[in-house]
Amino acid sequence: MSSIDWQRLMQMAKQAYENAYAPYSNFKVGAAAIDDEDNRFCGCNVENASYGLTVCAERNCFAQLIVNGATTAKALVVYTEQEKLTPPCGACRQVIVEFMAPDAQVKAMNHLAQEKTWSVKELLPDAFTPKDLT
Ligand SMILES: [Zn+2]
Repeated sequence: MSSIDWQRLMQMAKQAYENAYAPYSNFKVGAAAIDDEDNRFCGCNVENASYGLTVCAERNCFAQLIVNGATTAKALVVYTEQEKLTPPCGACRQVIVEFMAPDAQVKAMNHLAQEKTWSVKELLPDAFTPKDLT
C-alpha cells in the first residue's frame, strides 16, 4: 500500500467543509477519501428542513466515490472545525465498512492540527458485511 498524503486529503476535506450545508445545526463537516489508484473524492454534510433527510459528509463522500467508478477507499479523513475531534456517526460507520478494508485507516482532523486515527475494524467491530448476506 502506498503511503497516504494525509495533509492533502485533509485539505480536500476542508474544502468540502467550506461548502457544507448545515443551516440548522451549524455543525459543518467535510470528508475526503482516496482509492488505491490515488483518486480523491470528497463530500460535505447536507441538511434538510426535514431533519431526518440530512446526509453526513462521509456518506456523501462515498456516493461521489461510487459515482466516479471507484469501489474501495484506502483512507478517509473527517474534517471539522470543532475543538473536539468528530468521529464518524454510527450510520456512517456501517457505510465505511461497505467500502473500506478492515485495516484501512480513518482520521478525524480539525483546524487545530489535532487528529485521531482508527482502523475501520476499530470503528465498527463485528460489523455486518456483505459476507453476512450469503
Ligand atoms: Zn454520519
